[in-house]
Amino acid sequence: MATKMMSCREVGLRLQSYLDGELDERRMEQIRAHLDVCTDCGIEASVFEQVKADLAAHAPKSDPAALDRLRKFSEEISTYNVD
Ligand SMILES: [Zn+2]
Repeated sequence: MATKMMSCREVGLRLQSYLDGELDERRMEQIRAHLDVCTDCGIEASVFEQVKADLAAHAPKSDPAALDRLRKFSEEISTYNVD
């Protein structure tokens, strides 16, 4: 096993960046591996993707308020992962 498994908390903190494709390849792979085996984080990822899709469908691309809502949502979800 070359890759150390991330904790749910680590994944939660990086999930938004992961979905935006902003992480380096190693972290992307670690999170992908975690989502494969962790149902809780998999559900979070799909919720994030749904929110992003909703924002893309309903908000102008560079709407700062929409980005702010997404950021707040991300912070709320991250607190669920506090051990
Ligand atoms: Zn997890």
